[in-house]
Amino acid sequence: MSYYSPSVEKLIEAFERLPSIGNKTAIRLAFHMLNASQEEINEFTSAIINAKKNLKYCSICYNISDTDPCPICGNAKRDATSICVVEDVRDVIAMERTHEFKGTYHVLHGSISPMNGIGPEDIKIKELLNRINENPNIKEIILATNPRVEGEATAMYISKLIKPLGIKVTRIAHGIPVGGDLEYTDEITLMKAFEGRREL
Ligand SMILES: [Zn+2]
Repeated sequence: MSYYSPSVEKLIEAFERLPSIGNKTAIRLAFHMLNASQEEINEFTSAIINAKKNLKYCSICYNISDTDPCPICGNAKRDATSICVVEDVRDVIAMERTHEFKGTYHVLHGSISPMNGIGPEDIKIKELLNRINENPNIKEIILATNPRVEGEATAMYISKLIKPLGIKVTRIAHGIPVGGDLEYTDEITLMKAFEGRREL
């Protein structure tokens, strides 16, 4: 039985569905919202609605961008013959912060995870292959998926598809702790992992 009114209960449930929010935090956030002014609420909800409405992906690398192609794919100074494959949009930002990589990216939007029912067809692998097939100048594919079971499985899967095409496939080195996130890895560690990448 719930102690809250149905509408408050619904708000708590909505917060609980967000990543890393437990029941206590959800209750705290819900009551924070209930105590906020109407203006603050409008600002908050329209920020979410507008961010979602304006959300666009680069048709080359699938990074989030306001323009298509994105500023990286559209930059003639970037080396389009080298593609760094990452799981998430936030990993592009992590790599960019190292200032080490001058090539382009490909965002998979996930990793292969049979446990969660995510297969190769559910992430942007087909799009990566199309991109490689359409661009004979591509020389290196750097697999920078996270060093977790899913990230490793995804890297192996992609490597098996691309190596027969005669393209160099490398995997970033493991300065990054196993089970870690690229997003939360400091720049120096990520830079070293990038420099120490090995051919698969
Ligand atoms: Zn792009």
